[in-house]
Amino acid sequence: MKQGIHPSNWQHDCVVTCSCGHTFVTGGVKKAMQVDICSACHPFFTGEMRFVDRQGRVDKFQKKMQLAAAAAAAAASKTKKAAKEKVDAKSYKQILVDQQSELKAKKEADVTVAEN
Ligand SMILES: [Zn+2]
Repeated sequence: MKQGIHPSNWQHDCVVTCSCGHTFVTGGVKKAMQVDICSACHPFFTGEMRFVDRQGRVDKFQKKMQLAAAAAAAAASKTKKAAKEKVDAKSYKQILVDQQSELKAKKEADVTVAEN
């Protein structure tokens, strides 16, 4: 063993406790350790398919997805409303045609007044 590189407080009876309740003894510089997952409960070793969600990440993600869906629905309804307003608004061409027909009607009225 190389001198001067190993911790002086090394203990051979460090107790590791998992959140699933499984405990085992190993070597370490601490007397006890707390871990979130171990070989007794990790899906890779157990072979079962399940979420390991200690910090609420799945819930957080699902909440985020719900917010995104709500925002997308709001944006879709907004664009529909805008499209509807666009249909209601007159186009520039329509305004010009209306003005021309008004002028034409006025001219015809002037002509009929002048004839009489
Ligand atoms: Zn475990």
